[in-house]
Amino acid sequence: MAIARFGIRDLLPENVRLVSGPGCPVCVTDAGYVDAAVELARRGVVVATFGDMLRVPGSDSSLAEARGEGGRVEVCHSPGDAARLAAGEPEAEVVFLGIGFETTTAPVTALVRDAVARGTRNLSVLTAFKLVPPALYALVADPEVEVNGFICPAHVSAVIGSEAYRPFVQRHAVPCVVAGFEPLDILLAIASLVEQLAEGRPDLVNQYGRVVRPEGNRVARDLMARHLREVDAAWRGIGVIPASGMGLRRELEGFDAAVRHGVVTEGGAPDGHCRCGDVLKGKIRPDECPLFGTACTPTAPVGPCMVSSEGSCAAHFKYVR
Ligand code: SF4
Repeated sequence: MAIARFGIRDLLPENVRLVSGPGCPVCVTDAGYVDAAVELARRGVVVATFGDMLRVPGSDSSLAEARGEGGRVEVCHSPGDAARLAAGEPEAEVVFLGIGFETTTAPVTALVRDAVARGTRNLSVLTAFKLVPPALYALVADPEVEVNGFICPAHVSAVIGSEAYRPFVQRHAVPCVVAGFEPLDILLAIASLVEQLAEGRPDLVNQYGRVVRPEGNRVARDLMARHLREVDAAWRGIGVIPASGMGLRRELEGFDAAVRHGVVTEGGAPDGHCRCGDVLKGKIRPDECPLFGTACTPTAPVGPCMVSSEGSCAAHFKYVR
């Protein structure tokens, strides 16, 4: 989104091409997960969620539609809002939609930790936590994806640390640069990637050292390690990537909404003519999708990449088109 917003592509020579990656958690949330959340709302469960999930299409409905049908869907600005909802309505079942990369995973994990400590009995989390490093391995393993270097995300890297990418760089000899979201941060990252490629010495560079430490945020990492376990995860438009997600540890099953309410979060219907998968893998630009800007716009999104303001198609629509 920052690259589109600041017009950075227009500043680059023709042989430097920036493609989107699967960096928006809403965009990679499986349709089956949306279906499960809709099902919970229809059953009378209070579904608490960040606002950008409301219009994400599931197989045949969305949370906005479920709310229109009378389902209880509450928009939260932080996981703490869900805790307050549960405390204020002890007779209601509250499910918080835990969607996000490592940045969001940590505060949602704190919600579970606090619920355990307080003995909360009416709050659970429907998890769809994703991990960034396994996605890098999946992208370079795809023969149709041509990526010569990665700009690694600022916020995730602040949690996992820049060294989290070291094994990937060593194994695949693909340069990685951790960058912030300001235009100069992004330009410096691009310059570093180009230099490394020109000199034939792919490396890991932390260009965002004023925020990202090599070891990341130890408090957040410890919190996640104590409460979560690695799981295989379905990435919308990409498929299942082994060990690319996090779920609650088995001893916390009482707070796992999928277990507690018996819903399945995978296996949603494919996205028809939507080409989000190809956009997320950098195979096509958003405006190369035949539905872009015609059948699919931010006010009437067909696919998840057009829903969230962080989505590649929405950013392209707003800033580039
Ligand atoms: S423009 Fe719409 S339909 Fe096309 S890939 Fe993007 S979200 Fe999907």
